[in-house]
Amino acid sequence: MSESETTPQEPAYRRVLLKLSGEALMGEEDYGISRPFLERIALEIQEVAASGVQVAVVIGGGNIFRGVAPASHDMDRATADYMGMLATVMNALALQDALENEGLPTRVQTAISMQQMAEPYIRRRAIRHLEKGRVVIFGAGTGNPFFTTDTAASLRSMEIGAEAVLKGTKVDGVYTDDPMTNPEAMRYRHLTYMDVIAQDLKVMDATAITLCRDNHLPIVVFNCVKPGALRRVVLGEDEGTFVGPEEAER
Ligand code: UDP
Repeated sequence: MSESETTPQEPAYRRVLLKLSGEALMGEEDYGISRPFLERIALEIQEVAASGVQVAVVIGGGNIFRGVAPASHDMDRATADYMGMLATVMNALALQDALENEGLPTRVQTAISMQQMAEPYIRRRAIRHLEKGRVVIFGAGTGNPFFTTDTAASLRSMEIGAEAVLKGTKVDGVYTDDPMTNPEAMRYRHLTYMDVIAQDLKVMDATAITLCRDNHLPIVVFNCVKPGALRRVVLGEDEGTFVGPEEAER
């Protein structure tokens, strides 16, 4: 038996921030929250947390409401965005419930105070929770309209000292073309921030990417619906697409 078969692999990161989009939360549904997806992702997070990795989560809201969605047509944009932020809080509570069903200690912190349901966002408190092994779920995005939860993920990652932002999507990373329609499409293993910005690759919105670039925060885009993918990303294996300052940095 080789050494790698007997020795558990060391995680590549000690603290990560997982970004889950609202779309991922829909699972196979067209709208809302898929319980089977939540149960699956809760198990994946539990596995990673059990290996000693501290996990924070920023959750999207697009499965329920987006400020820019047709449903908000003719609505004041800021009002629509506040509704979008409320949607992320519903998702945060649903994920908390699923994680607690797996026996994981959790805290939800929201960028807009709603203290009957969740803690307000307090950076130092969030870090303390993580150090104690609690999964911290950040709801209500940045608390500001005209932003996205991708930007919230970059911002919170920096604030809490996460070593990478892991962007969970429904595809296996960033591809040269849409892999759903083009079977020739190839997955990029590594990209630089500049590649993403210059080629307008769909990783995160420009504000979020720029924030990561300016602060040298790595991003891993991966398929959060694929069993075991989160664990493989955390172990630094060839999963998804790594975005960083230089190609060789992984
Ligand atoms: N939102 C916002 N400020 C933020 C984060 C989110 O106004 O800092 C609103 C915005 O309307 C957005 C919605 O919340 O469309 C849901 O977030 P997002 O679209 O980022 O969710 P995802 O695409 O990840 O499901």
